[in-house]
Amino acid sequence: ESSVSKNFITAIIDKDNETGKFEGRVATRFPPEPNGYLHIGHAKSICLNFGLADQYNGTCNLRFDDTNPVKEDVEYVESIKEDVRWLGFDWEDRLHYSSDYFEKLYEFAVQLIKGGKAYVDSLSAEEIREYRGSLKEPGKESPYRNRSVEENLELFEKMKNGECEEGEHVLRAKIDMAAPNIILRDPTIYRIRKAAHHRTGDTWCIYPMYDFTHCLSDSLEKITHSLCTLEFENNRALYDWMLEALGVYRPQQIEFARLNLSYTVMSKRRLIQLVEDGHVSGWDDPRMPTISGMRRRGYSPASIRNFCERIGVAKAANMVDFALLEFSVREDLNANSHRYMGVVNPLKVVIENYPEGQVEEFEFQNNPEDPDAGTRMVPFSREMYIEREDFMEDAPKKFFRLSQGREVRLRYAYYVTCTDVIKDDNGEVIELRCTYDPETRGGSSKDGRRVKGTLHWLSAPHAVEAEVRLYNHLFTKENPLKNKDGSDFKDHINPESLEVRPTCYVEPALGNVKPGYRCQFERVGYFCADPDSTPEKPVFNRTATLRDTWKK
Ligand code: ATP
Ligand code: MG
Ligand code: MG
Repeated sequence: ESSVSKNFITAIIDKDNETGKFEGRVATRFPPEPNGYLHIGHAKSICLNFGLADQYNGTCNLRFDDTNPVKEDVEYVESIKEDVRWLGFDWEDRLHYSSDYFEKLYEFAVQLIKGGKAYVDSLSAEEIREYRGSLKEPGKESPYRNRSVEENLELFEKMKNGECEEGEHVLRAKIDMAAPNIILRDPTIYRIRKAAHHRTGDTWCIYPMYDFTHCLSDSLEKITHSLCTLEFENNRALYDWMLEALGVYRPQQIEFARLNLSYTVMSKRRLIQLVEDGHVSGWDDPRMPTISGMRRRGYSPASIRNFCERIGVAKAANMVDFALLEFSVREDLNANSHRYMGVVNPLKVVIENYPEGQVEEFEFQNNPEDPDAGTRMVPFSREMYIEREDFMEDAPKKFFRLSQGREVRLRYAYYVTCTDVIKDDNGEVIELRCTYDPETRGGSSKDGRRVKGTLHWLSAPHAVEAEVRLYNHLFTKENPLKNKDGSDFKDHINPESLEVRPTCYVEPALGNVKPGYRCQFERVGYFCADPDSTPEKPVFNRTATLRDTWKK
């Protein structure tokens, strides 16, 4: 059961319940257009709509707003269902498609025409735009505005029967060409589109517009509170006009601020460009702010729900710091994921006084935050890998990791001292020679000498080779859309958003985990097994670094 913190929408619902406006009912809906994959902004809307339904013992419909045959596809329908379920929400038997209402919507349009409230306009799209006027000047009436009901009915029938060309006519609501709210200046409600629809095929060649479809779909489904983002504030007048004009049940439209997240873009229109132009590997590229990308990256459903709860719901538009999203995933994975050792920039270490062929096992806690998570055994031998960053030549005093002549602790195992540094012809360090102190087994010494640094490690012959993919922000700018210099958002793609490390090593236990498995590599970050993993070579995506950059 999810719930939503008190916000201005719960205040409206509470009041409606007091006055009995909807007989105490709460019926919401999440109405995606299947023209792309869902993103984290949609998650906000999903958590809100399904969360309110849960909280008020109401219902939430999943409705595909599928009235534009050109841009929509079943692939998107399926991905949306998968993502909503993955987030932890269930529409049960309340699955709807606006396209299921095509016949009813057509009848409503005819009803409008008969009531003198809609007419067939034969101006071109460009003329209609011109005639609409601007905020400064009223619009101009179309010469076709006063066609008779009979003529309108006949033309609309012809449009429906495929006897007209695309763009030849549209159906418009007859409202007010001088209305200060431009949306009310005779909005187009039907247009001709000779395209196959992913569900209704070639049955229709006229398709209803958003402002006509949406309010009527809400009305037909007896929605009580129809939540949408702020850009639709001006559309509310049309929403109300339409339902009033047709004399049907009236839900209440309420607008809230959409989620904007720093260092990314959110609209499907833009995300699809990143996919189609090959800037990312697909909708589920782990750098994408899509639900499927975030899932692949290693975000858990709980971390996304907690994030949505944290950002809350308000009327004022704002930009949320990406670091808050990372804070939410760290919080969840810290509590719930197992620790392993993974070396993402390996440097070979040979422990010269450790007997050749000897293998010991050390017991590691799977999750120090969770006593029930149990323990596992990790092999230790003469040849090891450590992290290259954990060694430095001529290190300053405050460098508490490994350097020539210095001693560190290999976590839970032994103290080792670096005795020799081996380099290749270019002077690059390729191997360290160390000695270990057998008296420090378990990671402490009896003589009480202090060793500050503790490193993670892997036994080279036991380690599993893995590919690791490190991710950074997809864009270099906090708001890639705000460009005074006229540049395009794609001009600000971060060329270093993906760093592939083909030869990393992980513990044997991570050799055959399932894609989607989330864990922490100690000292390195949170990682998630990628579907590109093979039995020979697992692939891990870095979900987030360990360090928190979120300023509370
Ligand atoms: P996009 O611009 O990404 O295509 P959209 O609003 O056109 O977004 P829809 O499929 O129509 O996408 O959205 C379904 C629901 O999700 C709508 O009710 C919409 O208000 C909501 N939604 C979309 N983007 C956001 C966002 N960034 N923050 C909050 N809610 C959003
Ligand atoms: Mg939309
Ligand atoms: Mg859209």
